[in-house]
Amino acid sequence: CGIVGVMGNDRSVEILINGLKTLEYRGYDSAGIYVNDQDGHDYLVKRQGRIKNLESALTDDIHGKAGIGHTRWATHGEPSEKNAHPHFSNDKRFYLVHNGVIENYEQLKREYLGEVELNSQTDTEVIVQLVAHFVHESHMTTKSAFLKVLRLISNESSYAFVLMDREEPDTLFVAKNKSPLLVGLADGYNLVGSDAISMLKETNRFMEIEDHELVIVKPDRIQIEDFEGQERSRDSFVVDMDA
Ligand code: GLU
Repeated sequence: CGIVGVMGNDRSVEILINGLKTLEYRGYDSAGIYVNDQDGHDYLVKRQGRIKNLESALTDDIHGKAGIGHTRWATHGEPSEKNAHPHFSNDKRFYLVHNGVIENYEQLKREYLGEVELNSQTDTEVIVQLVAHFVHESHMTTKSAFLKVLRLISNESSYAFVLMDREEPDTLFVAKNKSPLLVGLADGYNLVGSDAISMLKETNRFMEIEDHELVIVKPDRIQIEDFEGQERSRDSFVVDMDA
């Protein structure tokens, strides 16, 4: 299972598919991408099985300047197109990819989403529906709603998350706990991925993410803060492929 994300490049679809292919070795049962062209159009494509299946479902009109991709290793809910990621909120505004397991998702669902009809059997969908719930019910910004949800997730849970908001398509909202995730810094655009290799075609400059940080990825900058909103600084590092 693995994750890739890209922010600020017209070749988003190609970058995501290339990245997902390098993550194939980790094993998966389904794959999907969400891309947004930052011009009012967005696209969600998911397929059970091989990345080839996903690739052959992509038509020429599917394009974006930003996007997220996922290969899934099912833990909650059978392998199927519905259970494949990215998952989305019922208003189709928020899109989320996730590697890991949310241990307290049933409790969160009971407590906050009693009325909400879910589209999948996954623990992941509860998280994206919760973000939408807090944005709508509590009139929160996407960032504070995501932070609130991150604080509600139990510590035993594991996650690498990349969240997109259709109404804020120049931002990736990123966080991790116990699951791997890394930022890639490219020329005029940025990336995230489960490992460095998934981004190596685009860049060899990276930035680590620590557990329990919120990372805001824009086309031209990265902002890192802790769950209390305190900003953190981070040096980037270069991986020398000739070494
Ligand atoms: N728990 C999530 C699911 O079953 C994510 C699995 C993964 O890491 O791929 O959909």
